[in-house]
Amino acid sequence: MTNRPAVFVDRDDTIIDTTAVTRSDPIPGDLYDPSRATLITGSADALLRLKRAGFAVVVYTSQGGVARGSGTLRDCDAVNDAMRRLLTEATGDPHLLAAVYFCPFHPKGTVAPFNREHPWRKPGPGMLTAAALELGLDLARSWAIGDKPRDCEAAVAAGIDPSRAILVGTSGEPTARCRDLAAAAALVTG
Ligand SMILES: [Mg+2]
Repeated sequence: MTNRPAVFVDRDDTIIDTTAVTRSDPIPGDLYDPSRATLITGSADALLRLKRAGFAVVVYTSQGGVARGSGTLRDCDAVNDAMRRLLTEATGDPHLLAAVYFCPFHPKGTVAPFNREHPWRKPGPGMLTAAALELGLDLARSWAIGDKPRDCEAAVAAGIDPSRAILVGTSGEPTARCRDLAAAAALVTG
């Protein structure tokens, strides 16, 4: 069997809204309370469009807040589960996501054993290369979508063509190629 192409999609401020709901928190963007997870308008339909076009939809998210003590691994799982539930409610597809990978490490953190550098930490390619091995993905035919340059850098480091690493402007990146995930999905599926 030949390997499938994937679209790797960042989570925070690409699929779910974090900065708008944590703006007044000690660290805006650190979302570890599943009750505060909300989908960005159009993101569920965008992911469904990608899946229907034949891509494995894989979420890859940095959660260095675990190393900084903002949340626990269990909190990460809870927010990921809330995202899956919201996506299922919006699309009717309980298998919309092929997998969710997250990286709890950060070298400036204080919580052992997560307070160190790690190959999964963006802009390292570890989450994508692990997913490719575990899920049987063809990175040469894959895409990536994220709201931070490091999302794209991780994808390129994993072997994804730079033209297939799409920066979206949800959180105001001035060099964004696409307005949001919906626009990026339209670009990927033509
Ligand atoms: Mg993000």
